[in-house]
Amino acid sequence: MEQITNFGDRRQLAFCVYCGGTTETREHIPSRVFLDEPYPENLPTIMVCEKCNHGYSFDEEYVACLIECARVGGVEKSILERKKIKIILAQRPKLLARLKAMITSSTNTALFSIEANRIERVLAKLVRGHMLFDQNEPWPDSSIELKYGGMEMFNDASRRYFESIPMINFLPEVGSRAMQRMLVTADVAGTPWIEVQSNRYRYLSSASGIVRIVLSEYVWCEALLS
Ligand SMILES: [Zn+2]
Repeated sequence: MEQITNFGDRRQLAFCVYCGGTTETREHIPSRVFLDEPYPENLPTIMVCEKCNHGYSFDEEYVACLIECARVGGVEKSILERKKIKIILAQRPKLLARLKAMITSSTNTALFSIEANRIERVLAKLVRGHMLFDQNEPWPDSSIELKYGGMEMFNDASRRYFESIPMINFLPEVGSRAMQRMLVTADVAGTPWIEVQSNRYRYLSSASGIVRIVLSEYVWCEALLS
């Protein structure tokens, strides 16, 4: 990935963006469980506290596995495409059993009931991480209005809306990565989609507090921070 140094206000980086605690360790945003090896170079990282760095791992694994199983239509090793998910499910029989138990129909393809609270916890974390990395905006007390669903449920109009770059009514912080991208691309509408890894993960963020994420080209998420 293109590497851009953040020249935004350093005070924004003084605390963990998830809990407001002390920054102690570096963490990848997005977590690598959503990506395949070999990883892209220059993956975005932010500084967070130790507790948050570890505290989301199980939920992130759950979400990554759920998306892959729902995408391919089952939990069997033979049909899973992502090698990493095969390995995780082989090592975590409880998670595998849990996903299996959540298949609600299997006439042609498996449908899964979901643990919404875990998905939303992970999505909110990704949203805050991207806002910090690109917009240099911790928005620590902000509330997040989160929407998400399956890409296949989009009709043409909603897909067009989702893929378009949100108009912004104020500019990104001076020195932030988003502002630097804007200066390079001369795109005043907003920051374009950033592809972290093809077919696995892309996102966009805007200075108005909108973050959109696409996971495995299967699940979409839009968040509004206010
Ligand atoms: Zn924290």
